Amino acid sequence: MKKIIDEFTDLRISRQYKYQLRRRKEGECILCGKKAVNRGWFCMAHYLKTSVANHKKYARLKGRRIKPSAGKWLRLARKKNLV
Ligand SMILES: [Zn+2]
Repeated sequence: MKKIIDEFTDLRISRQYKYQLRRRKEGECILCGKKAVNRGWFCMAHYLKTSVANHKKYARLKGRRIKPSAGKWLRLARKKNLV
């Protein structure tokens, strides 16, 4: 297998992370390779999924349920019944 040589090759980071950085550079979702939204790391579906996951993590940290009202991504996620 040929090694990919680019600006990430010599970085002391994990292969996984390099792979994610390359996808990021191409404007692709780092999880599935679809077009990323909002010049970010994820496609629409994964963006929402991550927002929801982060929200739940935050809510757990606070030890109570927080209404997912903050943020347009969460609102969008709620509209799609992901929350
Ligand atoms: Zn994706």
